[in-house]
Amino acid sequence: MRCAILHYHELALKGRNRPYFEHRLARHLRLALRDLGVTQVAPLPGRIRVTLGEDTAWELVKARLAKVFGVVHFSLAQSVPLTPDLPATLEAMKSAIGEMVREQQFNTFRVSAKRADKRFPMTSMDIEREIGAHVCALTAKRVSLSNPDLTISVEMLTKEAYYSVKREAGPGGLPTGSSGKVACLISGGIDSPVAAYRMMKRACRAVFVHFHGRPYVSRASEEKVREIVEALTQYQLYSRLYLVPFGDIQRKIVLGAPAPFRIVLYRRMMVRIAEELARRERCWALVTGDSLGQVASQTPENLSVVEEAAQLPILRPLIGMDKIEITEQAQRIGTFETSIEPDQDCCKLFVPLHPSTKTSLDHLRKIEQGFDLGALVKQGLEQVELAEFKFPAH
Ligand code: ATP
Ligand code: MG
Repeated sequence: MRCAILHYHELALKGRNRPYFEHRLARHLRLALRDLGVTQVAPLPGRIRVTLGEDTAWELVKARLAKVFGVVHFSLAQSVPLTPDLPATLEAMKSAIGEMVREQQFNTFRVSAKRADKRFPMTSMDIEREIGAHVCALTAKRVSLSNPDLTISVEMLTKEAYYSVKREAGPGGLPTGSSGKVACLISGGIDSPVAAYRMMKRACRAVFVHFHGRPYVSRASEEKVREIVEALTQYQLYSRLYLVPFGDIQRKIVLGAPAPFRIVLYRRMMVRIAEELARRERCWALVTGDSLGQVASQTPENLSVVEEAAQLPILRPLIGMDKIEITEQAQRIGTFETSIEPDQDCCKLFVPLHPSTKTSLDHLRKIEQGFDLGALVKQGLEQVELAEFKFPAH
């Protein structure tokens, strides 16, 4: 039987919540692999087994598993049954592992055995020695415990042992959905997709909100955001993206407020509108891609003033990260290339030359008194469009 054995890490620490997390992870896996001919996803003690069908392509399964939060590492494995007849069981394991090893290129190796069920009448070290000696005799290769070319893993469960040679890295984190929903303010830039990713990794389901400048700018920023949301949907399988027209709201702000304060006013309006959508979606927080001091809108004073416009918590997972760190992460998660395409972000529309970097809340409130804020929020919400994304697409 060809299968993938998946290991999780933090889940194991979650005490009484563990069955709940395992159940979530297994359900996510069934959905993520649904078009690849997988025959079963089964929780085993301390790990999850994904049984592959005859025609299931491992490369495709591998690529999908690398995007399932909660998985720390996984490997393509085969199994041998464990019977009360110990010598016969050992022979079966040796011959199966011998066959697998024959297909591998290596000079040095080690065997790493683990017993999930301690009732097996040999210690892990005994098993390692026994199988190691067999592989040595069979291949004439050397053992290296510290730096082997090949690590042969053997996992002893109650009724069967799984053996494998190559460990693949999972993304880590916690299974999607177990930390509730958050509304992610997403621009076409580099930062906000990374911010959304980081919250998704901590098990939040992301609902996306994008403010576009139509009719004053082209659809380019919106197309980028759609592409970015499509890429991020691979991690959560289903996404909702709210597209809010913001060009006209910005125009009204320009007409009624001094130039240096516009950016903070835009941000506060975005937060108010996003918060309404967040409530509809039952999100518990807003998420932005702010990083402290990166641009004028991200000074301590301005972040505080924006914060004040929201009732829900505003999460800023990138607040302490450098642009270089954020960029590297954007490259790893596959959003960078889209983010750097040129566009006409609504934020670049009506942007003042010298924005205020130390806005006072009192002053800003006075300026806002000149606007019918409720009407502006309503205007944004009235014309909002909803786009849905699914992965795999069918
Ligand atoms: P990013 O790379 O995410 O665009 P940035 O460095 O360009 O961020 P700002 O333009 O100040 O910084 O935006 C800060 C945050 O405000 C963004 O990370 C995003 O969460 C939110 N935001 C900005 N513009 C938009 C928009 N048009 N629609 C939705 N959210 C936005
Ligand atoms: Mg931006």
